[in-house]
Amino acid sequence: MIQFRDYQETAIDAARSLIGRGTKRIMINAPTGAGKTVIAAGIVQRAVSKGKTVLFLAHRRELIDQTVNKLVDAGVLNFGVVMAGNRLNNASAPVQVASIQTLIRRELPPADLVIIDEAHRSASRSYISMLANYPRAVVLGLSATPERLDGKGLDDIFSDMIVVETVPNLIERGYLIKPDCYAGPTADLTGVRIKRGDYDEQQLAEAMDKPKLVGDIVATWTRLAKGRQTVAFASSVAHADHIAAEFRAAGVSAAMVSGETKKTEREAVIADWKAGHIQVVANAMIFTEGFDYPELEACILARPTKSVSLFLQCVGRIMRPAQGKADAMVLDHAGCCQMHGPPHIDRAWALEGMAAKRKKDKDDGADLRECETCSMLYAPAPKLWLAETQPRLRDAFTGSASEILRGATKRRAMDACPGCGSADCIVCGSTFHPKTAQRDIDGIARESFTFCPQCMAHYVDETPHMITDPTETAIPECTDEDLVRIGDEAPINVVVLNEYKRLINEARKAGRKRGWAYWRLRERYDEDVLRAALPRHTGGWWKGQA
Ligand SMILES: [Zn+2]
Ligand SMILES: [Zn+2]
Repeated sequence: MIQFRDYQETAIDAARSLIGRGTKRIMINAPTGAGKTVIAAGIVQRAVSKGKTVLFLAHRRELIDQTVNKLVDAGVLNFGVVMAGNRLNNASAPVQVASIQTLIRRELPPADLVIIDEAHRSASRSYISMLANYPRAVVLGLSATPERLDGKGLDDIFSDMIVVETVPNLIERGYLIKPDCYAGPTADLTGVRIKRGDYDEQQLAEAMDKPKLVGDIVATWTRLAKGRQTVAFASSVAHADHIAAEFRAAGVSAAMVSGETKKTEREAVIADWKAGHIQVVANAMIFTEGFDYPELEACILARPTKSVSLFLQCVGRIMRPAQGKADAMVLDHAGCCQMHGPPHIDRAWALEGMAAKRKKDKDDGADLRECETCSMLYAPAPKLWLAETQPRLRDAFTGSASEILRGATKRRAMDACPGCGSADCIVCGSTFHPKTAQRDIDGIARESFTFCPQCMAHYVDETPHMITDPTETAIPECTDEDLVRIGDEAPINVVVLNEYKRLINEARKAGRKRGWAYWRLRERYDEDVLRAALPRHTGGWWKGQA
């Protein structure tokens, strides 16, 4: 029997309570990998136990097979399948799993509950005319990306949305893997027409299917992902063919699968792939929805798309955890991460569509930085703040430190690439691998610091770490050289911490207690600010000392 995860149980209960209150059109939004078919199976199981009839609609063979498996897992055994060539016909069963294309031509089964898989497609004509046959039924849509290709909403079909779980939470809980994303060369698409919300397929394929670009794809893979089981999404069948051929020419076992590939041949390729005899399989949008091979460790994007849904379906293939799988990698030759944001961010979906969603989205691809050393794409997370160095180090500058600093860029923080660890010094621009060391601030806290080997510019970490017994009252030794002077653009807690260090030094020289330093700061800053900036114990503790 199926073991529902806690958030799946919550989603099933939420759907039932909405239905109980008379809501008829409900969208269940769950990220790829959250198990939305499992949630649906749970809802079906409960509906059947109440004597209801259910129609489950999907548009692909793979999705129907997947649904059947999950229903069996959930203990729903009395069902029929309506799909050309499928022998699980059982017209009298209370649950019917149907291919929409087949059902259009058959007698319609009764249904109190209609479930639509991949419901972002439900705005299509075939779904709308199908739903017209079930005016009294509750309609439940399932989607990881509930919006139409053109970004329009689905609020004309659904009235309520249940957001099951976010991608960041699923990653944190180990249900998904956060992929590392790398940028690769891509084509200039300025001349490519936009058709129904996405690139014109023919023009896109012409732009992308160039020998140089195909060669770049193999080169990027060889540099970063060699040895990984890989899926490649191409812009056309011919493009997929060329990518596979280029891999084979480089001595990598690779194959191609398209919609025209015979079923037996496709199954043979997939079997060889899963057995590890084939490493790279290129395809033109075959392995998007419902394809299950969680051991995949790398995904090549060579199909630029305006559709965030399509993008997430592609990268979703590698984000599932598997035995022995440590990480996952996206090689983005399509500019998708920069256009849509990295795959792992929290996306706020809205039934009203993209315009409403954009307002809520905190994070997108616009701020992604590409590492010049390893080409990893990452969201800058400044950790090391430029600090004007002290006299003993100033000699190491050519020219004075302040002169160099005045010429520095406005951004005063430096981040290191999470992929290769390299960083660009914001004073002299040289690339180096910051190795942070720790030093005492005032005997009670310590901070991480590093310096650029080229120009000796000093950087300090934002967060201090407490080291000594907080009940210690004596003012510790603290020399001028332990202090750093920080630029005005540093965040408030860095400024406050630094000022605190200066004051505690002054207190020591004048024979005062530490409380004096705290209350001088308190004259200028609110308690909340000090609490956030100073070593954790100081807020309450200082009060007692003053
Ligand atoms: Zn890097
Ligand atoms: Zn430097």
